[in-house]
Amino acid sequence: MKTLRIHLEDQYAWIGRVAKPVWFSAWLCFVALMVTGSSYCWWAFWVMVCLFASYLIAIGQIHCPRCDKRLGVLSQTQAGGRRRQRLPLENTQCPNCRLTLDYPVP
Ligand SMILES: [Zn+2]
Repeated sequence: MKTLRIHLEDQYAWIGRVAKPVWFSAWLCFVALMVTGSSYCWWAFWVMVCLFASYLIAIGQIHCPRCDKRLGVLSQTQAGGRRRQRLPLENTQCPNCRLTLDYPVP
């Protein structure tokens, strides 16, 4: 038995495994370019902006485990998500079939 919560946590873990090393290396490049005063510094900055946008797009591509429609970024927005520690998911619901986080999906 699976729930939307387990499904989302799986997907976030998968995206995180890809995003974290990429993000970290982009950030290192940005810092290195900034320290050396290189004019490529702005390029690195825009690369980071693009990476962040792709991260949001990847989150938005997560499908509902019941109706297989995309959940979208907005339905997954969590209150207080800027805090450092991992928050338990709350209030996430499929915009299409109203699947809630702990409702079992066969
Ligand atoms: Zn759904």
